[in-house]
Amino acid sequence: MKNIIIFGAPGSGKGTYSDVIVEKYGMGHISTGDVLRAEIKNGTELGRVAQGYIDQGQLIPDELMISILAKVYDAQPAGRGVIFDGFPRTIAQAEALKQMLAERGHEMGIMIELVVSEDILVARLLNRAIEQGRADDNEETIKKRFAVYHNQTAPLAEWFQKEGIRNVVAWETYPSKEGMIDAIFKLIDQANA
Ligand code: AMP
Repeated sequence: MKNIIIFGAPGSGKGTYSDVIVEKYGMGHISTGDVLRAEIKNGTELGRVAQGYIDQGQLIPDELMISILAKVYDAQPAGRGVIFDGFPRTIAQAEALKQMLAERGHEMGIMIELVVSEDILVARLLNRAIEQGRADDNEETIKKRFAVYHNQTAPLAEWFQKEGIRNVVAWETYPSKEGMIDAIFKLIDQANA
């Protein structure tokens, strides 16, 4: 299986669709947000540092994020492919990911970009705040996370375009979860054919 990078704004469904992909294809799954939340829960030094950034809706510094990633990647079962969910979020992270994989004789595989309009995103995040109680899903932090997304992460789409691995799946084109899933599975099957 080729690796997959699932890309999109906060609330675009990266985690939800990653779970569906994992279930169908049995791939590994790295959610950097989940990794950081686990560190916070376990009261580690990394968790303590990460919490300050997460609560502010800011990104954890690239160097720290990159140093964690290789360790998490090497702990995944070999040969099944991995979904990167929430990573990379900056061009520096993308370059580092490409290099880390190349050092292991692996490739980025395909990037799947989830495109959802901003009013749907905000509604979903506020709903998640109620359902999952995520501390960074409050209105003020959501606004900051969108600004960070637009300034630091969205420009990466172009970087993936240049790499020739960008695939866009838009809610406007497939306005149901099932439609989105079908489109995503088709892309993955094509990439692995
Ligand atoms: P997420 O669950 O992916 O929305 O991530 C929640 C928060 O964790 C983000 O708002 C960031 O503060 C932090 N985070 C997660 N992944 C990254 C990353 N790749 N680079 C920097 N910060 C990250």
